[in-house]
Amino acid sequence: MKLGIIGTGYVGLVSGVCFAENGNDVLCMDVDEKKIERLKKGDPVIYEPQLEELLKKNISEGRVSFTSSLKEAVQSNDVIFLCLPTPPNEDGSVDMTRVLEVAENMAQYINGYKVIVSKSTVPVGTCERITKMILKKTKHDFDVVSNPEFLKEGAAVNDFMSPDRVIVGTGSKKAAEIMKELYSSFMRVSERFLLMDERSSELAKYAANAMLAVRISFMNEIANICERVKADINMIRIGVGSDSRIGNSFLFPGVGYGGSCFPKDVKGLIKIAEEYDYDFKTLRAIDDINQKQKMLLVEKVKKHFKGDLAGKIFTIWGLSYKPRTDDIREAPARTVTEALLIEGAKIQAFDPAANENFKNLFKNNKNVKIFSNNYSALKNSDGLILITEWNEFRRIDIDKMKSLMKTCVIFDGRNIYSPKTLREKGFAYYGVGR
Ligand code: NAD
Repeated sequence: MKLGIIGTGYVGLVSGVCFAENGNDVLCMDVDEKKIERLKKGDPVIYEPQLEELLKKNISEGRVSFTSSLKEAVQSNDVIFLCLPTPPNEDGSVDMTRVLEVAENMAQYINGYKVIVSKSTVPVGTCERITKMILKKTKHDFDVVSNPEFLKEGAAVNDFMSPDRVIVGTGSKKAAEIMKELYSSFMRVSERFLLMDERSSELAKYAANAMLAVRISFMNEIANICERVKADINMIRIGVGSDSRIGNSFLFPGVGYGGSCFPKDVKGLIKIAEEYDYDFKTLRAIDDINQKQKMLLVEKVKKHFKGDLAGKIFTIWGLSYKPRTDDIREAPARTVTEALLIEGAKIQAFDPAANENFKNLFKNNKNVKIFSNNYSALKNSDGLILITEWNEFRRIDIDKMKSLMKTCVIFDGRNIYSPKTLREKGFAYYGVGR
């Protein structure tokens, strides 16, 4: 099939490259011309496992190409995917500017039947809204379909290639058949194509992310109780997760969820509910708990140093919002860094993939230094704060750390270290819920 992808970010690029890998002819479009130039040369711009190899392969085999022309992306393709950002407005509602702007502009270029697919996470009713906008500007036949994306950064290629399910929302038989055919090559082992109406499809995406956020915040609260009653969250997690009705995933406590999806989608769903006169109390609490959880380690640091952080140097390992991505949108490391800077502390940070993004974010602050490996960031440090559980942080040379650090204290935001081993080696150890 001939596919156009509008917006070549985490979702657009992964979708485009994976569709190309499955034999489709894909043209990816983006307004960012510098990005398009780098993509043409096989540089994925973002860090995502397996993406670079697949991108290079599909460019050289002629199945994926890049443009900054919306006209070209619309006119030369049959199915057009909108993979545009839908960031939160100040009040938490969904900023639909880019999606609506592109929908409006693309209408003039429609030159035959098109399936226009919303892959962005968008409020209920968006497909209808786009349909009305385009209808005013074209005489050609088209369908607007909802196809929310469920990939996880850090495992995006794998998730796209072997999805748990593909949700498509449309009332059009013709569009449904095209979408089913397009995804059939991703469903060879078992059928996971779920067809529904547009509104249910749009809401299903928010509901899935909100449910995952509920699990995270719930476990973080149980962890906070564990600390008070002297129980071990790891034992609770195993005890709870072994119930087959509950399952094991998404039960790890930590320093709060971040990223470009959970925080904004939880807030977005609260606002969507509000528009329909519904007060989504659970989600308001989940959002609130998460904001507090992001400050958990800062509170522990303050307590350990009796409130005196001025001039102290803290090392942060892990800056991305989760391992195997360079994405720092809403990352807990940002909240922790900002809070410690306010207290007068200095930060020495390292991340295997997000160093560049973090450096750009704090480029005007001389109290934030980025290091090229985790041990060099420990020199003269008053304490290590582990925020993101990259695999390379799991095995540590404790003696080396001791020789580098000024004060031997570890704040382990992901419970990846053994408190017993560290304490035996003379470290003070703080985890989450144990
Ligand atoms: P992103 O910011 O990584 O990428 C968006 C891209 O769109 C950027 O490259 C940007 O330059 C481009 N763009 C902006 N305005 C444009 C315009 N007018 N015309 C053409 N291109 C334009 O965003 P993302 O993380 O890929 O998310 C896209 C959507 O997918 C969002 O709605 C998000 O909620 C949803 N989503 C994201 C993920 C994820 O893990 N990142 C997962 C599932 C769903």
